[in-house]
Amino acid sequence: DGNLMKGKRGLIMGVANNRSIAWGIAKAVAGQGAELAFTYQGEALKRRVDPLAAEVGSDLVVECDVTDEAAMDKAFAEIKEKWGTIDFVVHAIAFADKSALEGRYIDTTVEQFKHSMEISAFSLVAVAKRARELMTEGGSILTLTYYGAEKVIPNYNLMGVAKAALEASVRYLAADLGPEGIRVNGISAGAIKTLAASGIGDFRKMLAYGEENSPLRRNVTTDEVGNAGMYMLSDLSSGVTGEIHYVDSGYNVMGMSVLKKED
Ligand code: NAD
Repeated sequence: DGNLMKGKRGLIMGVANNRSIAWGIAKAVAGQGAELAFTYQGEALKRRVDPLAAEVGSDLVVECDVTDEAAMDKAFAEIKEKWGTIDFVVHAIAFADKSALEGRYIDTTVEQFKHSMEISAFSLVAVAKRARELMTEGGSILTLTYYGAEKVIPNYNLMGVAKAALEASVRYLAADLGPEGIRVNGISAGAIKTLAASGIGDFRKMLAYGEENSPLRRNVTTDEVGNAGMYMLSDLSSGVTGEIHYVDSGYNVMGMSVLKKED
């Protein structure tokens, strides 16, 4: 533990349980002295998020479904009332119907498309707009994305298209908010077994393929994504914005699967 985040306050959005990537980031920044607030989606998750927040010394835990504009306004108003300002936000939120995460992308319905785009891409814009008001001394906004935004990954389908919109939003938001000293970045994480990931068809095959074919020959952990997140949220990355940073065991650099002896 250190004090790279000492004196900084931030909001963590997207903890569902202790396997959540948002939780990996929360632990890393808390370990460097950051003070944290959390949002959760729906009453059912409060039961899981409350004890995790307590583990990192936080009792500022606020309900916030990102499809509910009034709930978003209320959550940010509550944080403003408690803290006045914030220094960073982690956006680790995505959703698509399970039936849109298997088979063919061409079968996506317009309802599935709109719903997933709203939660997985537009919500970053909605969060940035509200966070900005509290970032009077500048700040850092971080989201989570995946390589399926750039290349076709079987079954990732609609979520890949939503992540492409999310990554483009990172760049446009970085340009909008840069003059205010607010940075916006994404981490493109390798596959990790989380609640959200369990909705993706044949997810186990994605894990196995990454393990066999990435330069490091293994998958990444939420702690590794957490440490990279800490860098993006701290002043260590003060010159970095609009960036998508890979934490994927190097998988993205490969142009072909690893050759076996028999190939
Ligand atoms: P997770 O299930 O732990 O987290 C997803 C979170 O999204 C949950 O906390 C859920 O409550 C929240 N969410 C969904 N709909 C919401 C809504 N309407 N309002 C508010 N919150 C909502 O899974 P995770 O894998 O930690 O996902 C976090 C982020 O990381 C997601 O953006 C995901 O796409 C991304 N990501 C995951 C992987 C992976 O392999 N797990 C890889 C790269 C990127």
